[in-house]
Amino acid sequence: MSDTIAAIATGNVISAIGIIRVSGDNALTAADNIFHTKSGIKLKDAENRRIYYGELSDAGGRLIDLCLCTVSRAPDSYTGEDTVEFYCHGSPVVLTECLHALFRHGVRQAHAGEFTKRAFLNGRMDLTQAEAVIDLIESETPAAVQNAAGQLRGTISAKMESVYDSLIDIMAHFHAVIDYPDDDIDEFKMQNYLLVLRKAVSELRHLLDSYKRGKVLRDGIPTAIIGRPNTGKSSLLNALLGYERAIVTDIAGTTRDTIEEKVLFGGILLRLIDTAGLRKTEDTIEKLGVERTLTALETAGLVILVLDGSDVLKEEDFEALRSIPPNASKLAVINKSDLPSSLNDNDLSKLGIKSIRVSALTGTGIDALETTIREMFPEFNSSMTGELITNMRQAEAISRALSSIALAAEALTASVTPDAVLTDIESALTAIGEVTGKTMREDIISKVFERFCVGK
Ligand code: GDP
Repeated sequence: MSDTIAAIATGNVISAIGIIRVSGDNALTAADNIFHTKSGIKLKDAENRRIYYGELSDAGGRLIDLCLCTVSRAPDSYTGEDTVEFYCHGSPVVLTECLHALFRHGVRQAHAGEFTKRAFLNGRMDLTQAEAVIDLIESETPAAVQNAAGQLRGTISAKMESVYDSLIDIMAHFHAVIDYPDDDIDEFKMQNYLLVLRKAVSELRHLLDSYKRGKVLRDGIPTAIIGRPNTGKSSLLNALLGYERAIVTDIAGTTRDTIEEKVLFGGILLRLIDTAGLRKTEDTIEKLGVERTLTALETAGLVILVLDGSDVLKEEDFEALRSIPPNASKLAVINKSDLPSSLNDNDLSKLGIKSIRVSALTGTGIDALETTIREMFPEFNSSMTGELITNMRQAEAISRALSSIALAAEALTASVTPDAVLTDIESALTAIGEVTGKTMREDIISKVFERFCVGK
């Protein structure tokens, strides 16, 4: 018997429609107390997933809305429980009054993520899918949406299941060997098991390798714009901001002085590191800003070196170039292409990095800049169907599974006793089970769902 929960699913904002979700054993009865269909049909007799029009009353029985309602009975609902949804007019007051009316009838406020947690606990989705729900809600680019939607459909789950099943087969066999120690494992079977283990390693490695790209897809490319004063760094930033609908968020940085902003540049999410310095105009402050940017460079995935195309290359330009960390992808933006050029191809080849000419002032070349960055970060091309892992928890568990499978393979080749192989395979199974939530500690499950908003 589950207690019945309710929440506003659409947030506390004025909108055309606002949705209240109710889930639990008492959902239909509670809803019947506050909602009366025009046709006179009680919700407990209502058809599943059919829309009913009716009158909604507050806790005192006063009419507060004329709205729509649907019923989805267990187990065929999002949570796997009896569920009612009210589609009200999107007034936060109407929605709050509706909630309070439900609370009068044995329903309680849902915690953050509780609907999805119930869906997981009732086997409606596994943990990777539940995590995809939050990724989908928080997606900031079309490519991130597609990747999250693919995971919601079960891309990761399917991959994990197939590895899990292949290991279970081996385990079953080794249990048999322990039970009947006189039967030797024949060489052919041994080779077969090794193949299975190697295939599992390759699949898991492939997934794990996708994490770095997945993280970039979800969080954006940590990007630093560097260059000597007056090359046009702040103008370039403004051009990026104005390029398309831009979302700009301040993120508290690691130090008090460092600020990050997110910019949606075309479909690419750039997390600009320390743009504070770029916005200042006074020279002294700008100098400080540049210094800070240089320190922040260590975390950059992309470094854009801005050069003034109307001027010759100076030692400071080379200094900035040398400050780029070796692992970062780098790109020289030769700015001020609207002015006569003082930089020829020979000069640019001295830089030894890819370069692109733009005018931050007129916007010329900004399209090409987007294309170039897209080529450098293919994860933002909208063809992701859930292949990229975006979640550290999953990556960490996959990494443990990988180590255990590698150990099992070693044990198998070294003809160690079957129980040693079994122990490693069991650890791998536990780790894989953690990814999907099959084997999961309650405290970790709670942590996963804490990230959700109320009503999800
Ligand atoms: P920063 O010090 O690197 O941030 O450079 P700013 O963005 O402040 O630009 C320095 C000067 O160059 C300003 O006077 C800008 O108007 C000018 N500037 C920036 N970009 C362009 C450009 O594409 N073309 C031209 N002609 N001037 C530019």
